[in-house]
Amino acid sequence: MSELALQRRGILCVVSGPSGSGKTTLCRRLSCEDEEAVYAISATTRQPRTGEYDGTDYYFLSREDFEARATRGEFLEYAEVHGNLYGTLKSEVLNHISAGRDVLMDIDVQGAGLIRENSDRGIQDALVDIFILPRNEEDLLDRLRNRGTENDDQLKLRLRNALDEMKHWDEYAYTIISGNKEEDFAIFQSMIESERCRSKRLKTVETTQLEQEELGL
Ligand code: 5GP
Repeated sequence: MSELALQRRGILCVVSGPSGSGKTTLCRRLSCEDEEAVYAISATTRQPRTGEYDGTDYYFLSREDFEARATRGEFLEYAEVHGNLYGTLKSEVLNHISAGRDVLMDIDVQGAGLIRENSDRGIQDALVDIFILPRNEEDLLDRLRNRGTENDDQLKLRLRNALDEMKHWDEYAYTIISGNKEEDFAIFQSMIESERCRSKRLKTVETTQLEQEELGL
C-alpha cells in the first residue's frame, strides 16, 4: 500500500515595523524556541552597539565590502536605512527554504518591497509578510525611548522614519497590532503554524516499494 509522505517547503517570513515595535525579539525568540525556524542574520554598515557581536547580531561590514558584495549579487535585497546600508545575504535564506526550514527576516519596508518584487517563483511561493504596528504614536515613542540605544539626534531620526514606516502596514498580508510581548508572540507563532499547513507548501516525496521497483530505483 502506498504511504502518503509529505515534505514541506520553507516559509520566507518577512517581518517589518518601526524601531521599537519588537519585531527583532519576535523573530529571534521564535528561532530559539522552534527548531524549524531560523533567523536570517543581516549585513550592515552600521557600527555595532554595545553588546552586539559580528556574526550573531549582524555581519558588520565596511561600506566598501558591502557595496562589493552588492555588485557581486550576494544580496537578496538591501536598502539604506537611517543612513546605513542593511541587506539580507542570499546565503542566509535560499538553502534553508529548499531544506524546508522557515527563514525569519526582520527588515525595513523598502527591503520588504524589493522581496515582493522579486520575480523568482520559489521566493514568491515562500513569502509571508507581517507588519508589527504599534497601537498609537505615544506607545511608539515610549518604546523607542525605553530602548535607550540611541542618542537624541538618532532618536529623532528613528521617530521620523518610524512614522513613515507605519504608513506601509497595509502593504503586508498580515498586521499584528502590538499589545504586550507575550500576546504578540502568541499571534506571531500561530500565524507561522497556520502558514505551515498551506497545501501549496507541501510536496509528496515517498513512493511505494512497487513504484520504486518499476522506476528502477
Ligand atoms: P537597527 O539598526 O535598529 O538594528 O535596524 C534598523 C532597521 O534596519 C530596522 O528597521 C531593521 O528592520 C532594518 N533592517 C535590518 N536588517 C535589514 C536587512 O537585511 N534589510 C533591510 N532592508 N532592512 C534591515
